[in-house]
Amino acid sequence: MTVTQESARTYEVRTYGCQMNVHDSERLSGLLEDAGYVAAADGETADVVVFNTCAVRENADNRLYGNLGHLRPAKVSNPRMQIAVGGCLAQKDQGEIVRKAPWVDVVFGTHNLGALPVLLERARIQGEAQVELKESLEVFPSTLPTKRESAYAAWVAISVGCNNTCTFCIVPSLRGKEKDRRPGDVLAEVQTLVDQGVLEVTLLGQNVNTYGVEFGDRLAFGKLLRACGDIDGLERVRFTSPHPAAFTDDVIAAMAETPNVMHQLHMPLQSGSSRLLKAMRRSYRAERYLGIIERVRAAMPDAAISTDIIVGFPGETEEDFQATLDVVRQSRFANAFTFQYSIRPGTPAATMDDQIPKKVVQERYERLVALQEEISWEENRKQVGRTLEVLVAEGEGRKDDVTRRLSGRAADNRLVHFAVGDHVPRPGDMVTVEVTYAAPHHLVADGPVSVRRTRAGDAWEARQGAPAPAKGVSLGMPTIGRPPSVPTAGACSAS
Ligand code: SF4
Repeated sequence: MTVTQESARTYEVRTYGCQMNVHDSERLSGLLEDAGYVAAADGETADVVVFNTCAVRENADNRLYGNLGHLRPAKVSNPRMQIAVGGCLAQKDQGEIVRKAPWVDVVFGTHNLGALPVLLERARIQGEAQVELKESLEVFPSTLPTKRESAYAAWVAISVGCNNTCTFCIVPSLRGKEKDRRPGDVLAEVQTLVDQGVLEVTLLGQNVNTYGVEFGDRLAFGKLLRACGDIDGLERVRFTSPHPAAFTDDVIAAMAETPNVMHQLHMPLQSGSSRLLKAMRRSYRAERYLGIIERVRAAMPDAAISTDIIVGFPGETEEDFQATLDVVRQSRFANAFTFQYSIRPGTPAATMDDQIPKKVVQERYERLVALQEEISWEENRKQVGRTLEVLVAEGEGRKDDVTRRLSGRAADNRLVHFAVGDHVPRPGDMVTVEVTYAAPHHLVADGPVSVRRTRAGDAWEARQGAPAPAKGVSLGMPTIGRPPSVPTAGACSAS
């Protein structure tokens, strides 16, 4: 279905939540453009505003209804305007959304992204709200058209859904059971991206270590990493998120032996206390977690490891919290996404006894953050004097002094701000720099920069003539619009 040129409508997708949602929003933009919509210009209110929602965050629904309320006057004054709500909160609240906000035109769920253009059209023709939610996946989202945010780095979904039942997490009830995409389809998409100039892909799933179980190959994820190693021109492969319970040594071997798989691992810990891990229904214990880290470091001594941790889960004692601090001390994470537990309606943990008072959670959180900051800074200081290859990111970098700096990510995903020399690289180019200073959350390189121009940089330059990509808006969550190599909490994080 297409809209004719004279009636071409503008769109904007507003994204909340995890990488899975960011990637889904690329699909939504691709679908809308395929149907003839064009991205709204900066500052312009679009004819079609799509909210791709997240149900994980506390008060997510209040924020959504607040934002819908803000749009109501614009909708009254522009009869062409349509508002659509999709994503996890739509899957959870279903018809409730049009009861609470009757000016919403379309509600769609996590399993039927592809229906959005048809639902918008139907709402226009019939003059009434369309609510369509499916209980299971109709079509793997990666087979839908995509409008990618970045010319040099891309997400590639390998699975959707999750078979685990972590008691703090709403994902399984909203995204359904894990569905794995066939390796041939994943690799074909990666090859297409590389042909378009992409240098870095991040393989995305709620639990990448169980990839393949659905089609009977428990070793499929390691094989997939190795197969990515055979793709000419693909310089960096990352993945998120692995689950410690399903992590197998063949994946470590594949990481270590495949040159373009980066020595970087984001593996959620959530808690260092066995008692709490059990209450969270996370089927590993601290010993197993630390064992994986030990084997990763034995195979890749330069690996940068990051994690997600929840503080103040119901029933957490000071002893439990100390167990978490112990694991943090032993793990030497490059960085950690730390979350204060808060009740998420619809999850088993929401009704558990022993919810921890906010003051206690806050105090523990501050101690954890202080410890991790110290470790992050110590680990970053070890990088001073090292020569790193950095993939240049979009944006101006830091402007805190007279030196012009750009920013990018090293192979291990550390953020590097480097001084620009005579040859200014483009986003997507590679530069080689020497680290001269370390802060807890970034590195600085002030010396000479050698620039390697890449096809990704050429592609970025070519895109500068094209209309700007659809904007993302954040409500304090990881947001669309950043290159995928920027670390955010894992796809199955508690954020
Ligand atoms: S936290 Fe991750 S592994 Fe656990 S249920 Fe949620 S998505 Fe699955």
